[in-house]
Amino acid sequence: MVLLAVKEDRSSNIQKAEYGVWSGEAVAFCPQCKAFQTVWIDGNALMPTRKFIQEGSRIYHDCGSRRPCHLYVSL
Ligand SMILES: [Zn+2]
Repeated sequence: MVLLAVKEDRSSNIQKAEYGVWSGEAVAFCPQCKAFQTVWIDGNALMPTRKFIQEGSRIYHDCGSRRPCHLYVSL
C-alpha cells in the first residue's frame, strides 16, 4: 500500500511537470463520436482548427459533443 501511494504521487508530479506549459503535437479523441485528429497546441492553447473548439482548458469536437475530447501526447 505504501509503495503504491509513493508510485501514484510520483506519477502525478511528472504529469504536472509535463502539462505545465506545453507546445507540440497531440491527438484529440472525441469520446462521443470516436473521431480523432492530430492537433497542435501552442503554449497550452489549441491552434485554430476546423473541427475542434477550445473552451477554457478543454477541447470540444464540433459534432456537438458536450464531453471534452481526450488529448493524447507522445513524448
Ligand atoms: Zn465528436
